[in-house]
Amino acid sequence: MHEMSITQGIIDLCLEHAAGRRVHSIDVEIGELSSVVPEAVEFCFEACSRETLLESARLVIIRVAGRGLCQECGRETPLPELYAACQHCGSNRVAIMAGEELRVREIEVDD
Ligand SMILES: [Zn+2]
Repeated sequence: MHEMSITQGIIDLCLEHAAGRRVHSIDVEIGELSSVVPEAVEFCFEACSRETLLESARLVIIRVAGRGLCQECGRETPLPELYAACQHCGSNRVAIMAGEELRVREIEVDD
């Protein structure tokens, strides 16, 4: 389960940012095209944050929809999955614009 190491990375980043202060909440963006399962991250977060400054912090997961730019017709197309075809012209030459995110957007800490 690679979510465990991903979640540990998120936690390490937050602890570094918090610099000893207690963390209230974290917003994490997870793209639909990334292979990360949000439920697994939630589960790992609960386990990994125990007895750290992140314990009882609120984890908010923001799903980012997949979006691409068709290299054939030049239009934007929704990408429900990696390598989906353009919904306008059916081309497979679609450059990914969004949906691969995995990043911490915001960390709220005690003042
Ligand atoms: Zn197209």
